[in-house]
Amino acid sequence: MLNKKNKQRNGSTIFLILSAVLFAGVIWYAFTAHENVTPDGVVASGPVELSFSDVLRRAPDIKTMNIKGDRATGVLADGQKYSAVMVYNPELLEKLSADGTAVSIDSSRGWVNYLETWVPILMGVLFIWWIFRGMRGAGGGIGRALLGQNPTKIVTGKPKTTFKDVAGIDSEKQELMEIVDFLRDKSRFAAVGARVPRGVLLSGEPGTGKTLLARAIAGEANVPFFAASGSDFSGIIVGLGVAKIKEIFEMAKRNAPCLLFIDEIDAIGQRRSQNSYNDQDREQTLNQLLIEMDGFSNETGIIVIGATNRPDMLDPALLRPGRFDRQVYIELPDMNGRREILELHAKKIKMEKDVSLENLARGTTGFSGADLENLLNESALHAVRAGHKLVTQEDMEEARDKLMMGPRKFRKMRPEDIKLTAYHEAGHAFVGTIYSDIADPIHKATIIPRGRALGMVQHLPIDDKVSMSIDEIRANLAIEMAGRASEAVFFGPDKITTGAEADIAMATRLARRSITTAGMSNKIGMVAINQVQTFGRQVPLESASEKTAEIVDAEIKAWTDAAYADAIKIISKNKATVKKLAEELLKRETLTGAEIKEIVSGKKKTAKKKTVAKK
Ligand code: ADP
Ligand code: ZN
Repeated sequence: MLNKKNKQRNGSTIFLILSAVLFAGVIWYAFTAHENVTPDGVVASGPVELSFSDVLRRAPDIKTMNIKGDRATGVLADGQKYSAVMVYNPELLEKLSADGTAVSIDSSRGWVNYLETWVPILMGVLFIWWIFRGMRGAGGGIGRALLGQNPTKIVTGKPKTTFKDVAGIDSEKQELMEIVDFLRDKSRFAAVGARVPRGVLLSGEPGTGKTLLARAIAGEANVPFFAASGSDFSGIIVGLGVAKIKEIFEMAKRNAPCLLFIDEIDAIGQRRSQNSYNDQDREQTLNQLLIEMDGFSNETGIIVIGATNRPDMLDPALLRPGRFDRQVYIELPDMNGRREILELHAKKIKMEKDVSLENLARGTTGFSGADLENLLNESALHAVRAGHKLVTQEDMEEARDKLMMGPRKFRKMRPEDIKLTAYHEAGHAFVGTIYSDIADPIHKATIIPRGRALGMVQHLPIDDKVSMSIDEIRANLAIEMAGRASEAVFFGPDKITTGAEADIAMATRLARRSITTAGMSNKIGMVAINQVQTFGRQVPLESASEKTAEIVDAEIKAWTDAAYADAIKIISKNKATVKKLAEELLKRETLTGAEIKEIVSGKKKTAKKKTVAKK
């Protein structure tokens, strides 16, 4: 099919090549005429032509010689200009020099000059020709010339991917089953006169499996899959996007029933804004997309799936009936989903039997499917580096911590800083243990620096959290404040450090949210004043009056102050235990949740035995 188009183009192509050659000829003429000017500025008009043997014979007669590649030019003793063929001959040059002939050698070789002249011209001509060709054709050529590759990175073929390769998002799969049915047999839909779905918008954070799901739909229905990215359609040349849209839809129509996947659709379908330079072009591209989609009939058999992580940015025109009227939001996987995704991808790596993917799923809140896959891969890499035959739980922990907090830092720390860090983390760990029936259980405490953190106490939720109670919020605030509190209790108010920065930020955020969105402060009441989260983004809801804002600030401070006082009280009362925790941390660097519990409850012996046996 594409060949046919090329043939139609041939006539104009030949014309263009001919004119290009003509153009090149003119330029070449200009260049070569220039070359005839000798270095001393004399135009060599009508020189005598000498053969090499002539040169050898008449060497004493030669007054000047300029050698350039295999040609020599100059003036004879009698003033006659000459031009000669030269052969590389050192003796001749020596003789000429000895005779007092002024010999100059132009170091650039003739053929190099030739190339230097021609290559750029040819490239220029080819480039121009390419652009012209593109303009005449479907428009791909310009892109090809400018980007040096296929206009739209269209991925084709019937994917082998099926719903089995997608884990943890069962309800989304269920919702998309209808699309599979349609692609498998569109006549069934036509028979009952059902309006056929045309476009599906998959939205969700990056890495949640939108592309994977689209491929799986095509795989389930056993139809071709075409994929392009919205960013491919916005180029530097106006009109390129429109042509590309036409091109892929034509390709899709020829291959229907099929699935057309457009990733990053927000790049074309963004809500119009006044100030963007690119706007007009993008609008045309968007219009073309809408025209193509509106042009489908029930018989076309093309499903367009668009993917975006910014559904809020999309132009409403895209979401009207008959366009992307089916919207599926893919959430970040919950704990169960994460376990299923981990189990699916863990088939690719060899693990020790006692590895608990369940635990890993608990400790990876906020990870996308892609993150989880990456996590398993990282843990396998870590296993290789550590010389393990099978991937261990430790490898997985290390990989998780690395992805969450950054790589381990082997920075030199002053002993007093390490000591302070140990007491800081021990404070978190102890208050965390005290509140273990309200807050999430402690997974581990460590003083190994990572990323910007000098140490940390990790909590593992038992379940996915959908909400938090006020006593849980209070407990969490106290746990956050416990690091600073421990510093103050053990080292005195003059020795507190900036190490509590992240804790304070976290506590402030938690308090602010509870007060301004969840109506948890009596002083503010049940008024939503701040922001509401949609699709992981903060969208302003209402703005508070200045007076209310002041009360909010005072309330946040009152909450964190109370939490700090609480932490101080708990730690001061249990100095010996907190000290013990800190000393153990200094000794062992990392303590597991179980070890912390045992130290706090005073059953230290078993704890030690356990770790020795494990390591
Ligand atoms: P998106 O298109 O949403 O950015 P992708 O589909 O490209 O995400 O996901 C990247 C990779 O992450 C997939 O190829 C797959 O290996 C993995 N992945 C993501 N979500 C899942 C899932 N639900 N089940 C299995 N693997 C997943
Ligand atoms: Zn801290």
